[in-house]
Amino acid sequence: MGLLVVGSIALDSVATPFGETADALGGAAVFFSMAGAVLHPVQVVGVVGSDFPEAHLTALAARGVDLAGVERKTGESFRWKARYSYDLAGRETLETRLGVFAEFRPRIPEKFSAARFVFLGNIDPELQLSVLDQVKKPKLVACDTMNYWISSKRDVLLELLRHIDILMVNDSEARELSGDWNIYRAAHWILGRGPKMVVIKQGEHGALLVDSNTTFKVPAYPLQDVFDPTGAGDAFAGGFMAYVARTGDISFDNLRRAMVYGSAMGSFAVEKFGVQRFETVTLEEVDARVRSFRDLVHFDMDDVGDVGDVGDVRKKGK
Ligand code: AMP
Repeated sequence: MGLLVVGSIALDSVATPFGETADALGGAAVFFSMAGAVLHPVQVVGVVGSDFPEAHLTALAARGVDLAGVERKTGESFRWKARYSYDLAGRETLETRLGVFAEFRPRIPEKFSAARFVFLGNIDPELQLSVLDQVKKPKLVACDTMNYWISSKRDVLLELLRHIDILMVNDSEARELSGDWNIYRAAHWILGRGPKMVVIKQGEHGALLVDSNTTFKVPAYPLQDVFDPTGAGDAFAGGFMAYVARTGDISFDNLRRAMVYGSAMGSFAVEKFGVQRFETVTLEEVDARVRSFRDLVHFDMDDVGDVGDVGDVRKKGK
């Protein structure tokens, strides 16, 4: 069952307290597909410039990513430069050079148009809508966005929400979109605009899956060494969607599992610079990390209805 992603393919230059990269392979569609491809083949639609190193594309293809939808245009590739604070909590974008990405008009190759699972990476919501016009009958469509589009193309974004199943955003985006600081109310505000579910990424605080009846929370993996937080959200989305594509099951119970696979991929993303960790990660390592998540949150209750010695201190008159 085809899994399609549309989004940025970039040359990232990132500085963290532990080192820096220059013109490294990056972009939302790249983090998504490098993470997702561990679980399921991924089809990518994006654009690169004439200066984009062939070796970067080879690295993607080597992981089983289908690049038939990647156009090479004359001009500069999309470049993004950022610097993280000492605790990695803050990030300053130093430069965004759109290059050929400014004129990106996604064209879905015929062989991708039957994709059953579609992820609309963070691009102009008008272009996200145009992708939906080009795919036949997806079983699940998830979508990301960013503050820039929330403020500059709010009406189009609200129209897009009526056509997707899951909005996957970070907490500040959910707050800005809904105008509500409370993250749970913000999620329900979004549900009222069309999507059946909302995933809210909360960085080192994990992620939430919310539908009209239920809220599910997965923590972030307790890593002692984090090198580069770039792309964790996109890797999360890749793990989530690829797990759903692999299993073909969109029940809420299965989406809970997908949340854990997403979190596992997010945790791998930050262990090394850029997408490096995905060049080596194996399915066995992913499964082991998913098991660790289960152990992390598992607990046994005392016998239900009998709190034993703790008792009800009020009844004991203490
Ligand atoms: P994240 O850490 O989830 O914000 O994702 C970072 C990735 O998003 C980097 O690889 C960037 O190349 C890419 N990126 C940064 N700005 C944009 C933008 N305006 N549109 C699309 N992708 C972007």
